[in-house]
Amino acid sequence: MKVRTIPKTTSLATAGTGAPPQGRARIPWDAAGAGLPNILDMDKHGLRGLFAGEPYRGDQVYGWLFSKGVQDFNDMTDLPKDLRARLASQWAIAYPEVVSHKVSADGTEKFAYALADGCIVESVLIPEKGHYSVCVSSQVGCAMGCRFCLTATRGFTRNLSPGEIVSQVLMPIRAYPERRFTNVVFMGMGEPLLNYPNVIKAANILADPAGVQISKRRVTVSTCGIVPAIETFPRDTEAGLAVSLNATDDETRSFLMPINKKYPLADLLAALKGFDMPRRRRITVEYVLLKGVNDGVEHARRLVRLLHGIRAKVNLIPFNPWPGCPFEAPEPSRVLEFEAVLRDSPFTVMIRKEKGKDILGACGQLAGGIP
Ligand code: SAH
Repeated sequence: MKVRTIPKTTSLATAGTGAPPQGRARIPWDAAGAGLPNILDMDKHGLRGLFAGEPYRGDQVYGWLFSKGVQDFNDMTDLPKDLRARLASQWAIAYPEVVSHKVSADGTEKFAYALADGCIVESVLIPEKGHYSVCVSSQVGCAMGCRFCLTATRGFTRNLSPGEIVSQVLMPIRAYPERRFTNVVFMGMGEPLLNYPNVIKAANILADPAGVQISKRRVTVSTCGIVPAIETFPRDTEAGLAVSLNATDDETRSFLMPINKKYPLADLLAALKGFDMPRRRRITVEYVLLKGVNDGVEHARRLVRLLHGIRAKVNLIPFNPWPGCPFEAPEPSRVLEFEAVLRDSPFTVMIRKEKGKDILGACGQLAGGIP
């Protein structure tokens, strides 16, 4: 295990605020902006509304904030000086502060961010071939209580604002200009679809060619299965959907994921059948493999039957353990047997390579604490 804690003086640590105060109370933005609303919480529509009669000014500010990532109104050089001053007197450009940065032996990096009110969320950078994925959190903690997930043990504190979500992508983009950040997954802490308006706003800013410029096919929101929100999702965003299925019968699923009692499998699968997407897109079905619970060949066969008529691809996630957890990962051979059943089906299947386990940065291992 190779864990490296980077001192706060790295470029990312200072990305939000200029040099963060060492050893003082954490202040998320400089004193000039303290107490002002965060302009990063505004989407294009909201920003246009700030400039009566001159909506193009809103577009300019939007581009500066989300494409160019400026952190000072004075850097918005195509705005008149008095307008920059007016904005600075009314708004902060408030980024969270990096309070911990760990690098895994496999190159995965986990960041803990302190938000304006001191809450902490985590976010993960995952190196892929020639590019990076960013895994963002959408809530402080989580209320869903899934038994296999470490975040669940921490309970729910609050929703993240759109700016707090988008910052988790803007900060690494700014700190590592040499890297290509091509994918964003809402698979960190929290249940994104229970923070619906803020997640939709953030996903749309991320996927906007005039915003953060991540391809809309590469922004994916993952849900434990909030059926009414799945139904409205394709109307509100072109981001992709992932669903954590994790079991093939109601009894097992309700045991693992209490939300299943509210939205049982039949309702969830019906919503996925009706999910409207462009022709070549697929819903990602995530399936955490738990030894002796849901990892048998018979479960794989039932999964194939359940997914009939749903345009899905399957992502198998061998369980990642965490201290005190009651489950184990299946043997690799059992994972391959499960996979083989899906290979024989119409569905594309992938075993998710787990990265960042040594820093508790893999799926279901985010606890949002400062180690
Ligand atoms: N709440 C959303 C977003 C979290 S995504 C959702 O449920 O989809 C996190 C993914 O990791 C989910 O697919 C979840 O089922 C999976 N997961 C949670 N804990 C895990 C663990 N310990 N090992 C492997 N995967 C886990």
